Amino acid sequence: MNDNLHQLRCFGCGARISGAQAQPDFRCVECGDLFEVDYPGWGQRKGPDRPNPGALKWLWRERRCSSEALDHSGVWRFRELLPILDSFGNVVTLREGNTPLYPLTRAAKALGIDQLFAKHQGMNPTGSFKDTGMTAAMSVARERGFEWVACASTGNTSAAMAAYAARAGLKSLVLIPEGKIAWGKLSQAMDYGAVTCQLKADFDGCLRLLTQIVKEAPIYLLNSVNPYRLEGQKTPAFEIAEALDWNVPDHLIVPGGNLGNSSALGKGFRELHELGLTARMPRISVIQAAGANPLVRSLAANHGASLEPMQAHTRATAIRIGNPASWRKAARVIQDTGGWCLDVTEAEIAIAKAELGSEGLGCEPASAVTLAGLKKLLARGAVSPAETVVLVLTGHTLKDADYTIDFHRGTLLNADESAGLETEIDGLRRNAVATDATPAAVLAALKGRTR
Ligand SMILES: *Cc1c(COP(=O)(O)O)cnc(C)c1O
Repeated sequence: MNDNLHQLRCFGCGARISGAQAQPDFRCVECGDLFEVDYPGWGQRKGPDRPNPGALKWLWRERRCSSEALDHSGVWRFRELLPILDSFGNVVTLREGNTPLYPLTRAAKALGIDQLFAKHQGMNPTGSFKDTGMTAAMSVARERGFEWVACASTGNTSAAMAAYAARAGLKSLVLIPEGKIAWGKLSQAMDYGAVTCQLKADFDGCLRLLTQIVKEAPIYLLNSVNPYRLEGQKTPAFEIAEALDWNVPDHLIVPGGNLGNSSALGKGFRELHELGLTARMPRISVIQAAGANPLVRSLAANHGASLEPMQAHTRATAIRIGNPASWRKAARVIQDTGGWCLDVTEAEIAIAKAELGSEGLGCEPASAVTLAGLKKLLARGAVSPAETVVLVLTGHTLKDADYTIDFHRGTLLNADESAGLETEIDGLRRNAVATDATPAAVLAALKGRTR
């Protein structure tokens, strides 16, 4: 199964093209929709040509002990399900993936559910899941001979792109919305050598501009409209299934911004099922911030027939997106798997983030929407306590340290946002303490702490 046998299939009209025929903006010339990488050979392989699930599972696990860079990557050790390159010699890797699946014991107990896990994608080389997609798409950029790559970004895409471009010896351009991204991420893009342009525009405006630029110059677009990004981002699905001994969880909960990641994870679980590696699909639910919830609105208004772009507002900057590119794909994943799409408020996000932090699993605010969403799903009876649930934590806590400090100092949320949740918030905020510089004062501050 190692030969490059992929095609691009339009998600809207079904048109098929070869990888080399893709337009610079990765839009279909027939209908304007996005493409999905498709492997027509897989369905036709019968008899001895059909991949042997047991042999693949054994091979993928064995590779974790290998010292080869390709095997050591949590993306490329699954390369039988990623035949997107003519030569795996073109792979650009920082040993991404192989991220931990942590039990969330404290949250599980508080919520009364048996099996709750966090797949911590913040434990990737640049601190977010974007690395798993970037290794795939950057490898394609190198194989196709590009010198320049570019992305519009809320932060993490640019950090990942800049790092992988540097490893590949390519030059990179980043367009970011001025003032609306976390400093940690911006500093990474600069550190790794990207030309970093802050624009007076929001994310959606940055992406629109970049789409024009790549049509005028030979620059390879690395936003998640690039279908190869999603091929890398599907591999955490393989890791989750593997970690659960190839039993898929009942429910997977993913944050939704541009909606590439939820689409990719859905594709990953679907391919496992179609190839006979797992017995079923998990339900996949997508959670958005209440101020950036265009998919929630679309599903409520017309079952996902159309999506109305909106002005996005949330402090969870990674999901501050009002016109998500991959919304059709994500809507299909939610509908096909019987999942839900919900939104959560700024205070709910902040509380959930502090709760995850208190388990020793810090994450970005955008990641914490998963726990906040799970609480809502449990309250509605949409998830039962007997189910196995996996939350996808998309980014590392150090990406946005300002957010955490503001929360613990009590300057993050205003009175309107905190209304009704003051006690809960105060309970979590007690970590920032100011006292006199005496032993007695410090010891007094420890009194009454339950843990
Ligand atoms: C990019 C990102 C998201 C959103 O993912 P989409 O694929 O755009 O939906 C969520 N959280 C973090 C930390 C991210 O970097």
